Amino acid sequence: DRIIDADATREDDAIESSIRPKRLADYLGQQPVREQMSIYIDAAKQRAEALDHVLIFGPPGLGKTTLSHVIANELGVSLRVTSGPVIEKAGDLAALLTNLQPHDVLFIDEIHRLSPVVEEVLYPAMEDFQLDIMIGEGPAARSIKIDLPPFTLIGATTRAGLLTAPLRDRFGIVQRLEFYSADELTRIVRRSAQILGIACEGEGAVEIARRSRGTPRIANRLLRRVRDYAQVRADGRIDGAVAGAAMQMLKVDPEGFDDLDRRLLELIIDSFDGGPVGVESLAAALSEERGTLEDVIEPYLIQQGFLVRTARGRMATHKAYRHMGLTPKDGRAD
Ligand code: ADP
Repeated sequence: DRIIDADATREDDAIESSIRPKRLADYLGQQPVREQMSIYIDAAKQRAEALDHVLIFGPPGLGKTTLSHVIANELGVSLRVTSGPVIEKAGDLAALLTNLQPHDVLFIDEIHRLSPVVEEVLYPAMEDFQLDIMIGEGPAARSIKIDLPPFTLIGATTRAGLLTAPLRDRFGIVQRLEFYSADELTRIVRRSAQILGIACEGEGAVEIARRSRGTPRIANRLLRRVRDYAQVRADGRIDGAVAGAAMQMLKVDPEGFDDLDRRLLELIIDSFDGGPVGVESLAAALSEERGTLEDVIEPYLIQQGFLVRTARGRMATHKAYRHMGLTPKDGRAD
């Protein structure tokens, strides 16, 4: 497993309850999102209404689940958490919706993975707070309507493009989370270190932040692994040197790349002459799923300017050549 995988591990989940921010004030970074959400939340509270439905999109580990917890807390309502693939039948969704209290928040992670049948049930629920479901089968089947309490649906997805248009259109508020800056991640690392009682000073936090691929979940995980290293190989304190040495052991380079990132760049440069190369060919050569490549590995490489997506496929940039210690070919994108 990749230490820099942005998907949650069991260990990540286990410490979530202690370090996951609960209020907007502790939700660091994402300034525009925070400012807008604070206005929408205050407005809904003043009108004593349910907050409009919110769609949050962004790569894994950037704080979609956390933001939904924060929103529910700030609204002073309960949060129900589920995910697209878990809701198999219309009845599953009906059970969730009918259990909500007025103004509660229902969070559906990976909402793009809802089945079409379930999605159909969701439309009138979102629009008119009404459930319209079929019960029974054959000639005895009939449709019943149930009034729902006004609620807020928060849907999360890695890419907005994965959603069907009718579903996307039913969200009044759409928020896109961006990768965090090194400064923001440094603050997140310091905050987590403080909560977990880890001595992580000055350059130590900066070093961890810089290698966290703009992703808080990775920053928190690296912090825990560097803490282990500091405990066994040093005096328990994380400074710049200790963090650097630990990262070397973890094979996370100064850009936050691991072997898989380097293999991808190497593959494009060596086997495909720098590209363009189709995503399917890359996925096959790396034995990875296309979706993993597109959602997990590529976004950060693209955002950092190591890779470009063109109509004809992926291309390695000058920066990628230099990072791999190679001389860029002429005519490469920079
Ligand atoms: P996602 O749902 O997008 O995959 P999560 O909301 O589970 O990501 O966040 C992953 C981790 O990052 C959590 O441990 C959370 O505590 C931390 N985190 C996310 N966003 C922030 C933030 N804005 N400030 C501080 N910590 C954050």
